[in-house]
Amino acid sequence: MKKVDLHSHTLVSDGALTPIELVERAKANGVSVLSITDHDSIGAYDVLSELSDDNLKIIPGIELSTQWKGVGVHIVGLNFDLNSEQIREGVAQQGNSRAKRAELISERLIKAGLSISLERVKEIAGHINIGRPHFAQHLIELGVAKDTQTAFKKYLGNGKAGDVKQCWADLPQIIKWIVGSGGVAVLAHPLKYKMTRTRLSLLLDDFLEVGGRGMEVVSGCQTKDKTNVLSRLCVEKGLLGSCGSDFHQPSQWSDIGKMADFPSNCEPIWNTWN
Ligand code: AMP
Ligand code: MN
Ligand code: MN
Ligand code: MN
Repeated sequence: MKKVDLHSHTLVSDGALTPIELVERAKANGVSVLSITDHDSIGAYDVLSELSDDNLKIIPGIELSTQWKGVGVHIVGLNFDLNSEQIREGVAQQGNSRAKRAELISERLIKAGLSISLERVKEIAGHINIGRPHFAQHLIELGVAKDTQTAFKKYLGNGKAGDVKQCWADLPQIIKWIVGSGGVAVLAHPLKYKMTRTRLSLLLDDFLEVGGRGMEVVSGCQTKDKTNVLSRLCVEKGLLGSCGSDFHQPSQWSDIGKMADFPSNCEPIWNTWN
């Protein structure tokens, strides 16, 4: 079966590789269909002159941040027109939200007694698309967290001082940008939100109602149990199945193209493209 990876990051957001390095690594790992889905940005596609060649098909993608009933949720948009005004507008708006959020995170952490420098965080990010992992790196260099995991646990994760909610466009708007530019909307890593099964089912109902079409049934090297739970939900809701490593950098989480097997009872989203 061909190796498909529809969720990955570069240093355009919080990944470590350049878009070209990521594409090379994907090829080396035997990936034949790839999407680069940076957080709220399509900047990676500006530096890739050729989208596809004989060995690798590249599908335009993005991972948009939103919230649903107070929970931060990620929606992957796939196979849209990179030049569409809708997606460009979405990226611009989410970029502004990210910049404002960075200021709020910085203020909140300073209030919590930390000597944060937003200028330094911007320097770490190397671009304006600042994410919490860049704050995590700053917290590590300040000596208040020993690693990224600890930085999230103490300062940036759910309910902590640096967890700023309600700043992203809402779910209907996010899906409108994706669908309006010819793409499909996929719920990213559904088990990461730590919702009960009932709540996740409600989220999927709302997602479907506003035009969502797919869900990730495989996210990285998950267990068989998790694949079973997700594939059942996918079939029950009549959604298309997607899969991705959510690769950020070598030796953190899954490598590009390294994922659990795709469940045979789900309809692969890439079969609807051709
Ligand atoms: P943001 O886009 O600024 O909300 O940051 C979310 C990103 O932070 C995710 O895409 C992950 O890359 C990273 N992240 C989230 N939780 C953790 C964690 N517990 N440990 C390390 N990285 C995390
Ligand atoms: Mn990330
Ligand atoms: Mn995500
Ligand atoms: Mn991701």
